[in-house]
Amino acid sequence: MNYKIAVIAGDGIGPEVVEETVNILNCVGDKFNHKFEYEYLLAGGCAIDEKGIPLPEETLEACKKADAVLLGAVGGPKWDNPDAKIRPEQALLGLRGGLGLFCNLRPALLYAPLKEASPLKDSIIGDGIDICVVRELTGGIYFGERGREEINGVKGAYDTERYNENEVRRIGKIAFETAMKRNKKLTSIDKANILESSRLWRKVIDELAKEYPEVEVNHMYVDNAAMQLVRNPKQFDVIVTSNMFGDILSDEASMITGSIGMLPSASLGEGKKGMYEPIHGSAPDIAGQGIANPLATILSAAMMLRYSFDLEEEAKAIEKAVVSVLEEGYRTADIMSEGNKLVGTKEIGKLVLEKILS
Ligand code: NAD
Repeated sequence: MNYKIAVIAGDGIGPEVVEETVNILNCVGDKFNHKFEYEYLLAGGCAIDEKGIPLPEETLEACKKADAVLLGAVGGPKWDNPDAKIRPEQALLGLRGGLGLFCNLRPALLYAPLKEASPLKDSIIGDGIDICVVRELTGGIYFGERGREEINGVKGAYDTERYNENEVRRIGKIAFETAMKRNKKLTSIDKANILESSRLWRKVIDELAKEYPEVEVNHMYVDNAAMQLVRNPKQFDVIVTSNMFGDILSDEASMITGSIGMLPSASLGEGKKGMYEPIHGSAPDIAGQGIANPLATILSAAMMLRYSFDLEEEAKAIEKAVVSVLEEGYRTADIMSEGNKLVGTKEIGKLVLEKILS
């Protein structure tokens, strides 16, 4: 099969980690007889420099035509002026909105060989942590009405959390489907003791639960969830939650796995098209030094194979190769610990590639 991939390398370490990932995809293509075609596109800071805007029209159009989008990272100090009207991160919102990507899947997996990277105690981690956070991405307070106001001479500001049943149902469905492919346990997180929008969220999740009798569902308030994630993370399998709660909890979930350089993500919509990117940023402090960890982007490509192309065996081949390389003690600087072998971006990419071929 032929698959068209729109590639946005972006800024900072983006191009470095994307290069290794494309090598891996080519290797998977050769081994399993697929052809991946790439179209390299500008977005983020580099697009501001060349075109004056973070998301040029032709980039969005090409992404719409592609089967999937692979993104490195965007942003950096050069474009970081908080007063600037044009910012690299606007490219991400434009891509999510323009491609209708309303769901963000973030697996937070603590690999056994990286146990020491987690800030949690051994007794809490046990044999590992494996959580998948399903975050609503295009609704809620980040997209609701907002503004400034002045009441009785006092200046104020407001943001609005708003969800409708359809928005909750479509993200809920993805969460239940994800749970069905995993350990069939779903925790829906809200603030239904206070927020009306959370009460609607809970009602829709309960309705959906009837369609998935095999999935064990529980509801949890967000403040409790923030605690439970560090107290007993092993109780979670799949978490589904709103845009803002998901933003915060998915960062917390990724922190307990130890390294930001290891965590992939997928943004999905109604169809098969998705955007795949590491959760880390452009790491300007280490850009150009050849020491960035490309594994989060490589694992994002594995998610692309699984979710956009239905190539489960190929996705597993990448994930298995990554685990083998870690088990053999190879580490980039961000995950390095005593007794292991320090390697750079290209070397670890090559090691994963060799494992896939072996
Ligand atoms: P960051 O994720 O870029 O870096 C945080 C720390 O983690 C840094 O010390 C960095 O060196 C390290 N790090 C990150 N990824 C790594 C990797 N693959 N290998 C080794 N070390 C890694 O976050 P930040 O410093 O807050 O942001 C830097 C820039 O990236 C900002 O302009 C920010 O807006 C942008 N950003 C972009 C995205 C995105 O494109 N999706 C996400 C977050 C931040």
